[in-house]
Amino acid sequence: MPDDLSNIAPGLPALQSALSAIVGPGHVHADAASLDLHSADIWARGAETASLIVAPGSTGELARALAAITAAGFNIAPRGAGMSYTGGYVPSLPNTISLDMTRMNRVLAVRPDDMVVTVEGGCSWSALNAALAPHGLRTPFWGPMSGLVSTIGGGLSQLNAMFGAGHYGTSSESVVALAVVLSDGRIIRTGARRPASEGKEALPFYRHYGPDLAGLFCGDCGVFGVKAEITLRLMRAPAHEGYASFAFATGEAMLRALAEVARAGLASESCAFDPGLTRVRMKRASLAGDVKTLGAVAARENSFFAGAMAALRVVRGGRSFIPDDGYPLHLVFEGRSAAGVAQDVAEARRIARAEGGQEIEDTIARVIRAQPFPPLNSVLGPEGERWAPIHGHAALSQAPAVFTALQTVFAGFAERFAEAGISTGYLFTHLETNAITIEPVFYWPDERFAVHAVAVEPAHMARLPSPPANAAAASLVKEARAQVLDVFTRFGCAHFQIGRTYPYRSSLDAATWGLVEHLKSTLDPAGALNPGVLGLDPGQPR
Ligand SMILES: Cc1cc2nc3c(=O)[nH]c(=O)nc-3n(C[C@H](O)[C@H](O)[C@H](O)COP(=O)(O)OP(=O)(O)OC[C@H]3O[C@@H](n4cnc5c(N)ncnc54)[C@H](O)[C@@H]3O)c2cc1C
Repeated sequence: MPDDLSNIAPGLPALQSALSAIVGPGHVHADAASLDLHSADIWARGAETASLIVAPGSTGELARALAAITAAGFNIAPRGAGMSYTGGYVPSLPNTISLDMTRMNRVLAVRPDDMVVTVEGGCSWSALNAALAPHGLRTPFWGPMSGLVSTIGGGLSQLNAMFGAGHYGTSSESVVALAVVLSDGRIIRTGARRPASEGKEALPFYRHYGPDLAGLFCGDCGVFGVKAEITLRLMRAPAHEGYASFAFATGEAMLRALAEVARAGLASESCAFDPGLTRVRMKRASLAGDVKTLGAVAARENSFFAGAMAALRVVRGGRSFIPDDGYPLHLVFEGRSAAGVAQDVAEARRIARAEGGQEIEDTIARVIRAQPFPPLNSVLGPEGERWAPIHGHAALSQAPAVFTALQTVFAGFAERFAEAGISTGYLFTHLETNAITIEPVFYWPDERFAVHAVAVEPAHMARLPSPPANAAAASLVKEARAQVLDVFTRFGCAHFQIGRTYPYRSSLDAATWGLVEHLKSTLDPAGALNPGVLGLDPGQPR
């Protein structure tokens, strides 16, 4: 225990003063607007409203704050940037303190000599990449598309897909070491560390030494402890990039091609859409007209001339290259030599053609790479509708069948969706040589939450209609989500961002689930952290 907490009186006012003494009064919030923001995620409101928000500024403050909250009998809901949609950080029980990690946003040390970087848990992926760029370095997995604001602590807690995932897998595959604060204030440090020298603490340099303790906390959705400091592996930023885009007549053909691209280890990341999502994207953005986008595309090239040519291709391509009814697949390639990248692109072309893919302009592949972390305007639909994705990671061989089954579910809802003004789409990507992520997305007219106003750029928000509350549409989406989940379960799909949404517990046998429960009771004996998340017993109100 870091401090003597025996003199903290029970009750909220006493806890508020204790927390103010630990983190400073300016970092404890109890105003209605802040509590409302922290009590709903992008998908839904929590069952309860947070009692207080506390924002520690260091690992020491975090440890003292957690110990004080737990000793006072309150629950703890860690929150990074709040960019998730599975009930992971919303209060489910009364007496919940929302833990705002965004003050712990520093890049603590870039160490090119040991090829590691250490950040605080609330550091965003965009801040990490900005700090590494001058060194010509990056992490193998280097961010989700929400990385402008979403945090590395949040990304490790619920795992991530996207940049670098095609070659290097999810965020946790890049972890070297963690410092995790438990709910009673103890600190667990994982990873091999080179010896401390005078005045300097021991520095982590390698993940594996005995059982993989870091792995316990990756994907835990914050139920085991709070990630305070994270050390990630570095690599030299690949010198060469390539791009290719193809359109397929059916989702199944596209998924067969993507599976083969994954098996061959060709693309560093992929992104595919169905016609529904293409329609939404085209309504929202004018790619070719966006000067910032063109500048970013040009900047990826090694020379001014190549940059200008790349931007020109985007302008010339306009929107016409995107087929209305096809399934476009966009692939990004990277490597140490231009010849190696060209070989990978050629092999992907061969694979795509074998499945009937037609090559189209590679604009979207280029734009995805050039602007990896765009503003988060897509948390609302182009007509101001609410947006919520749901996903499953399918085995490569199963992905086409999963998609066919999902299409059958959506066909069953078609009439009711049309009446309620609900539209859907799909996004697809791959994870290393092993899985394809299938992400159906729902848009429905409904009131927005405070988190939407924080995420969307004010100028974009000003252009959007603001639909009223629509419980009927929301409940129809909920019904369809449940059927989508059934399909994923039938095919044994895995999930990131488990939160309170995905049926993790029922996917495990009794012995394995028993281990998860034992870990929880050892690491968080009071059951204070995110009660109910991962399917762990929500316990009694504390
Ligand atoms: C527009 C948009 C695009 C997206 N694109 C992607 C994408 O490309 N790939 C992808 O994988 N996801 C994507 N997401 C989903 C989401 O943004 C990511 O999962 C992201 O990792 C969430 O990070 P966060 O910091 O917002 O976490 P939060 O939503 O704040 O928290 C997520 C979970 O982690 C826990 N948690 C947060 N911080 C900590 C910590 N330090 N220690 C312990 N537990 C913690 C919380 O309790 C919660 O359970 C996208 C979301 C949006 C809105």
